Amino acid sequence: MPGGRNLHQISRIMALLNDLIHKAAAKKAIFLDLDNTLYSYEPCHQAGLKAAFQYYRRSVEGISWRNFLSRYHAARHVIHKMLRRQAASHSRLLYFQALLEARFGRTQCQHTLKLESIYWNAFLRRMKLFPWVRPFLRHCKGQGQKVLLVTNLTLDIQLRKIHRLGLNGLIDFLVTSEEAGLEKPHSAIFKLALRKAKCSSRKVLAVGDDPRSDRMPSADFFQV
Ligand SMILES: [Mg+2]
Repeated sequence: MPGGRNLHQISRIMALLNDLIHKAAAKKAIFLDLDNTLYSYEPCHQAGLKAAFQYYRRSVEGISWRNFLSRYHAARHVIHKMLRRQAASHSRLLYFQALLEARFGRTQCQHTLKLESIYWNAFLRRMKLFPWVRPFLRHCKGQGQKVLLVTNLTLDIQLRKIHRLGLNGLIDFLVTSEEAGLEKPHSAIFKLALRKAKCSSRKVLAVGDDPRSDRMPSADFFQV
């Protein structure tokens, strides 16, 4: 275990790892959610937003953080409503496009691209894998179990997250809602994951932070 953790934290991590390994025994495949399951989402999102705000204030117009946030949330709301249950409903590119269009009455190509790349670069820099993840995935590999990441977002950014977290060699398949066409908990994405894993749902342990979307019919579920 890396240094800097106290005994209480280490024993909590070990207990979680043991519970997971116990739950995963006799399963053929593990379906893991990505965001807020393998790392803590909120600090990364905040780092991304703050970096995007710095750029906006410097290069677009001098507004307050509060004003920027309210414009961001308004744009996000519009896109969410328009693209409900699709991967693109989370696209930061679409959010920033909508934010700028609402403000200036026309598309701002350069600023849209720049805000999106600044957001994700800051987000990725902040990401840190939860300590139970790597030992658990190594254990699954050792047991010959397939590991799939089943996640609601677009492929491009989820690939970048996996690369950043150093999980390339530890997962067998990535399944995104972009690829499946619909988001969890819709069955389309789980069906696609089952096809890739070549197994039935009874042989799957689904792991995630949100039972409403990560729980899969007829599969065991573990909430982290
Ligand atoms: Mg999640």
